[in-house]
Amino acid sequence: MRQKCQKCSANHVGAERMIIAFIGVGNMGGGMALNLVKAGHEVWAFDLSAQALARVTAGGATAASSAADAAAGADVIITMLPAGTHVRAAYEGELFAAAQPHAVLIDCSTIDVATAKAVGEAAATHGLAMVDAPVSGGTAAADGGTLTFMVGGPDAAFAMAQPILANMGKAVIHAGGAGMGQAAKICNNMILGATMIATAEAFVLAEKLGLEAQTFFDISSKASGQSWSMTSYCPVPGPVPTAPSNRDYQGGFAAALMLKDLKLAMAAAQGAGASVPMGAQAEALYQLLVNNGSGGQDFSGIIRLLRG
Ligand code: NAD
Repeated sequence: MRQKCQKCSANHVGAERMIIAFIGVGNMGGGMALNLVKAGHEVWAFDLSAQALARVTAGGATAASSAADAAAGADVIITMLPAGTHVRAAYEGELFAAAQPHAVLIDCSTIDVATAKAVGEAAATHGLAMVDAPVSGGTAAADGGTLTFMVGGPDAAFAMAQPILANMGKAVIHAGGAGMGQAAKICNNMILGATMIATAEAFVLAEKLGLEAQTFFDISSKASGQSWSMTSYCPVPGPVPTAPSNRDYQGGFAAALMLKDLKLAMAAAQGAGASVPMGAQAEALYQLLVNNGSGGQDFSGIIRLLRG
C-alpha cells in the first residue's frame, strides 16, 4: 500500500502524473501499461501470471500483490482481462471496495454488453466513475500506442478517462452510456468477420476462374469490393506486403479472438432481437476454423478453409 508517488514522494492526485493500477498485463495490457509508464505515470500492475508481470516491471511498472493492492491509492484503475466473468469478479470482488472515491475505473477488455452495462451500473451505485473502453487494434497497436478506444459511460467519466486513454491510442471515441463501447466493438468486428470471409471467397473464386490475385486486387481495391479486409489484411500473400498472409498467417488478429467477438455479437443480437444471418454464418465458419486447430493463426487464414 502507498499514499504517495514512490519516485518523488509527491501526492499526484489531480495532477498530470497519475497513479494508475493496471490489472491484467498480458499480450495487450502489457504494452498498454508500458505506454502509461512512458507517458510519465506511476503504474502499479497486477496479473496472475508472473511472466506477464515481469515484462512490465522490467519496463518501469511496480508489481502489486493483488488487484486491491494495486487499486488502493490509485487515481485510475484499468482492467484488461480475458472475459466478462473475470471483469465482474475483479470489480465486485475487490476493485469497487478498494477504489478511492475520486478514481476513474476503465475496463478495456472485450466482454459481453450485458456484463459491461451491469458492472458500469454497479460502479455508479458505489458512487464511482466508470467506463467500458474496449479497443480496436492488436498487440502491435497496444505496444505502439496506436489503439482505437470505443468508450461507453457517463459524460463525466468519459472526460476523466479520455486523457489517460490518449496515452495508449490514436483515437478515443465516446459511443454513449454504459456498455456502448462494447456494443460498438462487437458490431464493428461482426462487419470485419463477414467482410474477411467475403473477400477470401472472392479471391478463391478469382483463382478458379483464372484471374491473377494481384490483378483482382488492383481492380477490386479501387472498386466497390474494397474493404479493410482487402487493403490491410489481404488474405492472399503478395498484394499487401504487411498482411499476415505473407507470414503464413502468423501474428495479426487470432481466429480464436474473432470467434470470441462473433459469439459476443450473436449473444447480444439474441438479447436485442436483431436479425444477423451473415454474422451467424461468419460465427459458424470461424468455429470450423478453430475446430480445425487454426485458432492461433490470423483470421485471414479462413481462406485455407474455403479452398478446402
Ligand atoms: P491475455 O490472455 O494475453 O491477457 C490477459 C491477462 O489477464 C493474462 O496475463 C492473465 O494472466 C490475466 N488475468 C486473468 N485473470 C486475472 C485476474 N483475475 N487478475 C489479474 N490478472 C488476470 O489476453 P490479451 O490478448 O491481452 O486480451 C485481453 C483482452 O483484450 C481480451 O478481452 C481480448 O478479447 C481483448 N483484445 C485482444 C486483442 C488481441 O489482439 N490480443 C485485440 C483486441 C482486444
